[in-house]
Amino acid sequence: MRYSGLRILKEGLTGNRGWTEQWRDATPRPEYDIIVIGGGGHGLATAYYLARNHGLSNVAVLEKGYLGGGNVGRNTTIVRANYFLPGNSEFYSYSLKLWEGLERELNYNVMLSQRGQIVLFHSDAQRDAAIRRGNAMRNQGDDCELLSRADLRRMVPFLDYEQARFPIRGALLQRRAGTARHDAVAWGYARAASARGVDLIQNCAVTGIDIAGGRVRGVQTTRGAIRAGKVAIVVAGRSSEVAAMAGMRLPIESHVLQAFVTEGLKPCVNHVISFGMGHFYISQSDKGGLVFGGDLDLYASYAQRGNLPAVEHVMEAGMTLMPMIGKARVLRSWGGIMDMSPDGSPIIDRTDTQGLYLNCGWCYGGFKAVPGSGWAMAHLLATDTPHPSAARFRLDRFATGRGLMDEEGTGMQHNLH
Ligand SMILES: Cc1cc2nc3c(=O)[nH]c(=O)nc-3n(C[C@H](O)[C@H](O)[C@H](O)COP(=O)(O)OP(=O)(O)OC[C@H]3O[C@@H](n4cnc5c(N)ncnc54)[C@H](O)[C@@H]3O)c2cc1C
Repeated sequence: MRYSGLRILKEGLTGNRGWTEQWRDATPRPEYDIIVIGGGGHGLATAYYLARNHGLSNVAVLEKGYLGGGNVGRNTTIVRANYFLPGNSEFYSYSLKLWEGLERELNYNVMLSQRGQIVLFHSDAQRDAAIRRGNAMRNQGDDCELLSRADLRRMVPFLDYEQARFPIRGALLQRRAGTARHDAVAWGYARAASARGVDLIQNCAVTGIDIAGGRVRGVQTTRGAIRAGKVAIVVAGRSSEVAAMAGMRLPIESHVLQAFVTEGLKPCVNHVISFGMGHFYISQSDKGGLVFGGDLDLYASYAQRGNLPAVEHVMEAGMTLMPMIGKARVLRSWGGIMDMSPDGSPIIDRTDTQGLYLNCGWCYGGFKAVPGSGWAMAHLLATDTPHPSAARFRLDRFATGRGLMDEEGTGMQHNLH
C-alpha cells in the first residue's frame, strides 16, 4: 500500500478500514542467503538496501525483542554531518544526503526536520577549532556557517551569554542538520524491506553462531536453527556478546547513555543546540517536549537505565546554559546501551570467519548514520568489498594501530593491551 495525502482522505471518508499491516510478521524459514542479526536502525536499513540495491531478498532480520525496541527508538534523534576527520567526514556527509531523500525513498514520513544544529564556542581556542572544523565540512561539500555572538543572540536569545565561567562567544551552525522521528525511521525501513520480500522475525534471539571449517553456516536462535551463507552482526550495544558466540573478542565496551524529556511546551527551542563547555544538548520535539541529554554514565553496563550522578550533571549543564529550563518539569528519562569503540569511530567490516560480517562501534552517534551504514553494509555483504564511503571503518585498525580515527573516543583505551 502506498501512503499519500489522497489515501488519508479516502481512508478518512471510509472509516479507516482499508489500512493494511505495515510489514509481514514472518516466521523463520530453515535457510536464507543472508541473516542480519539485530532489528535496529542499522539492521533494518541493511536489509532494505540489500533488496533495493542488490536484488537480494532471501534475507532475514532476526530481532530478539520487537523492531525498534533498542537504541533506534531511544535516541535523541539528532542528524548532522559535521565530522572532522577523513573517513568519518565523507561517510556522514553521504548519510545526510540519504536522509534528505529518505521520506520519498521509503514512502514514509520520518519527520526529518532540518532545523539546524548550533554548536557553541566559549573561548578563542574553541573558536579556532570551530573554524577548522567548519573548513573541513565545507571542503567535504557540506554547509556550515560561523555565527558571531551578536548573530547568535538574535537567533537564540534565551541562552545565558554572560555565564560567569563560560561566556558564549559564538557558534558553528549547520542548517541542514536537525532531527527525525526515530521510531518512524525503524518502521519505514521495516515496511520497505518487508515489501521487497525480506523476512522480519521478532522475538527471535540469536543464541549461537554455527561455524565449520572457518565458514559461517547459520545461527542458533530461540526459535530454532537457521542456516545461512552469510551472517551480519548488527546489534549495537550487544555487539561484544553476540561476537563472542563466534569466538571473537571485540574492541568495544558497552556503556549507558541517558536522555530526558520535559512536559510539552509551546515552541521555544527552534534548533538543536549543543553546549561547548559541558556535555549538554537540547532540541524540542514536535509534541513540544524539550529533549535533552549529556554524557555517558561512564562505566560499562548492559542496563537500559541510568544513574543519578549523570542526571545531576546533565541538569546542571542545562541550567548553566539556559536557566529558563529550570521552570520545565522533566517527564521521563531512559537509557540505551552504546557500543563504544576506542577511537569513537565505527566498524563495518568482514571478520576472520568467512561469511561473517560486523557492523558496530557507533558510540552515541549512530542514529544519523543509519541510512549510510545500511547502504555500506549491504554493499559489503553483497559484493564482499567495502563501500567507498565506509572504506576506513576497518576492524583491524585496533590491532595494528594504523588508520585510527580519533573522534574523541571514550570507550576503552586501545593502547592498553
Ligand atoms: C539516549 C541516547 C541518545 C542518542 N542520541 C543520538 C543522537 O541524537 N544522534 C545520533 O546519531 N545517535 C544517537 N544515539 C545513538 C544511536 O541511537 C545508536 O548509535 C544507534 O541507534 C545504534 O544502532 P541501531 O539502531 O542498529 O541499534 P539498536 O536499535 O540498539 O539495534 C540493535 C538491535 O539488536 C538486537 N539484538 C541484540 N542482541 C541480539 C541477539 N542476540 N539476537 C537478536 N537480536 C539482538 C537488539 O534487541 C536491538 O533491537 C543515541 C543513543 C541513546 C541511547
